[in-house]
This record gives sequence, structure tokens and C-alpha cells, in this order.
Amino acid sequence: MEQMLLNRVGKAKSAEIDAALKLGAYAALEPAFRMRPADVVHEVKQSGLRGRGGAGFPTGLKWEFCATVPGSEKYLLCNADEGEPGTFKDRFILEHDPHLLIEGMIISAYAIGATQGYIYIRAEYPAQRDILEKAVAQAYMRGYLGSNILGKGVNFDLAVHTGAGAYICGEETALIESLEGKRGQPRMRPPFPAIEGAWRKPTVVNNVETLAAVPFVITLTAEGFQKIGEESSPGPKLFAVSGAVNKPGGYELPMGTTLRELIFDHCGGISGGRRLKAVIPGGASTPMLTADHLDVKLDFKSLVAAGSMLGSGAVIVMDDSTCMVSAAAVLIRFFKHESCGKCTPCREGTGWLYQVYRRMLNGQGRDGDADLLLRICDSIQGKCFCPLGEGAIQPVLSSIRYFRADYEKCAGGGCGEKVCRPMVH
Ligand code: SF4
Repeated sequence: MEQMLLNRVGKAKSAEIDAALKLGAYAALEPAFRMRPADVVHEVKQSGLRGRGGAGFPTGLKWEFCATVPGSEKYLLCNADEGEPGTFKDRFILEHDPHLLIEGMIISAYAIGATQGYIYIRAEYPAQRDILEKAVAQAYMRGYLGSNILGKGVNFDLAVHTGAGAYICGEETALIESLEGKRGQPRMRPPFPAIEGAWRKPTVVNNVETLAAVPFVITLTAEGFQKIGEESSPGPKLFAVSGAVNKPGGYELPMGTTLRELIFDHCGGISGGRRLKAVIPGGASTPMLTADHLDVKLDFKSLVAAGSMLGSGAVIVMDDSTCMVSAAAVLIRFFKHESCGKCTPCREGTGWLYQVYRRMLNGQGRDGDADLLLRICDSIQGKCFCPLGEGAIQPVLSSIRYFRADYEKCAGGGCGEKVCRPMVH
């Protein structure tokens, strides 16, 4: 497949507007503005584009909800808060092709009737924020942002907003709260942001990769876009591959590429000549899979059927030297730290999971710890206010499902292999 989202990545000065224009940036604006906003929404709906941030909600449908709400004050927010362990795919666009993102936002704003947009970027991306701010300033200078864009009567202002550094602010309602200057905690839904979002006005929140795909829906048409990838999950997908592979990094591949193709054909196989033990296919909050799942396709439907999720496309590969108790423990430490504290099952439950893992890694594992962890997960599952709590337990549930033997070895002072390190509070 020809590179689309990463086409300009690696080209000289690709983040600068002059270089980006020579490489085709902003070419989708004219054809988009020739369409009525409702037709742009229809085209995106027809393309089958689904959100690339984790939830996979149909993009055109979200836009339609917002576009059809009466009122002239609407907002478009770009979620650039990628903060889950293993996730770094949006970073390639932010660093190397910010004009692709801006172009996608202009078209999206035109479609939903928003005249103000914000790119909400995580605090841990200061270099990317600087690149974005420069790109936004350049786009204003050349008339791609502001009033009467390209002389077509389209108005759209865009600002970059830096978060304070909280994983929960990647959840769209917490992002909105944070943008409004409040504590970053999720809001009760409904009403959904498309109806009542930022400053209680209709708001669309889309991920960086989703917005960056929009210009290609226009230039290829919905029909052309659908021809890429799987019928149920069309389009290109960015994968951020880390862990025990020879060539970790960012890959743009059609939806439906198998895990085997990604790991062995593109990433050069497992490093050090070892064997694959486990793989997390979509970021830390998606259930682990095993070497038996290598022929599973990386798309929304196939991964759910296999018992996991596409999530953000962050693929974490673990070889046969990995202790799955240690791997799950590291992720639980992250989720415990990032729980916003609003609801008890998540706030207390992640804390209790962490306590048990810490004891196990400190050489005080007991018989029955796996069942104890499952009981704690049961008190979290389906009882949380937002998806963080549900996501937090996935590494625990899946590692016990597939690697219970690793947990049993922890009982009675540890396995003796000394691959784990004590967890310091
Ligand atoms: Fe906060 Fe966790 Fe509850 Fe979400 S599930 S609202 S992160 S405490």
C-alpha cells in the first residue's frame, strides 16, 4: 500500500509549510469547499472511517450528530493527548506533518459548522507542541486559517492547548473539562459532546490520526478510501510497535494486516532469536494475545472476535523471557497512578491490584494470588464511571487467562529466575 498518512514523514523540512505545500499539503481544501458541508459529512460516513484513538466510533456519524444540532457556536477538538504506554503513532504526524492534521481539521470544521478548533496536546510533548504552534502560525500567514479561507467564505480559527499531563485527559469529556480550565475528570454522558461539549456547545472530539485521514477521504472519495483495508474497517492504520522486535517503530499499513505480517515481515521478527510469548495489540488497556493469535487481523472486528481490541494500534511485543506478572504489574502501576479518583471501584481497585502485584514482585507471592487479583477485577469490571477502570484490568485478566503458570510460580518466594525487580513505592 502506498503511504498516505506517513507520506511526507522523513522528507526534508516536511513540517514547514513551503515544503509541505510542494508535497501536496492543503490540496484537499478546494474540492472539499466545492461540496456542501452536509455532503462532506455524507462522504466521510460512506468512507467507513472510524476513530483511531481507541473507541473506533464511526467518524461521519459523530459529525452528523454535531452538524445537525441547531446553533452557530460549535467546536472541533483534536485529541493529541496520546499517553497510553506503548502509544506513539500520532507523534509522527505531529512532528513531521502538522499541516496534514491542520488540513484535516479545516475540512472537518467546515463539515460540522465549527469556526473554532483546539489541538489538545499532552504536556509531555513540548517539542511537538512547538512544531504545531509554528505550523498553525504558518497556516494563518498563508490564509489557510482565519477568515475567508481561500476566498471561499469559510472561517476557522485554531489554537494549540497544552494539557497538564494526565492520561485521563485523553478521554473526550475529561479533555473538555481540562480545556475549560477545570480538573481533568470525565463528565456524565449523555449528553454526549456532539450535542453538548465544550462550553456546553456541540463539539466533535477526534483523534490526530482520524483527522489526518480526512483529506484522503476527499481526494480518493469514499469509494477509493473503502478499497483500502478491510470492508468492515476501511482505510490505512498507523501502528506503533515496541518491545521485543528487531525493528520497532511506526508503520502505516492497511487495516486487516495480520499480527504475523506486522511482527515478522515489517518489524523483522523477534529480537535476539527468541520466541514470541505475548503481544498487546492496541495499547496497555487492550487484552494481551499470544503466539497462537499471530494470524489474527489487525482491524476492529477481527480483534474483538479474538478477545482483544484494536485500541490505538500500539503493539507491544513480549518474548519468552518476559514474566507476565512483571509485565502486568508495570501496567497496573501506571493505571493506579493515572486513575483520576472520581469513582471508588477504579480509585481503590487499581490501588489494591497494585498492592498485590507489589507484594508478589517483592518475593512475597502466595497461593491464590491470581484468584485474589481476579476478585478485585470483578469489583472494578462494569462498575466504573469511565473506560479507564475497565481498561486497567485488561492486562490482569488476560495475563492470568493465558499465563496463569507465571502467577503460580510467584507463590512461596518467587520463581528463582530473577527476571522481576522489586517494586518500590
Ligand atoms: Fe476516574 Fe477511574 Fe472513575 Fe474513570 S474509572 S472516572 S479514571 S476513577
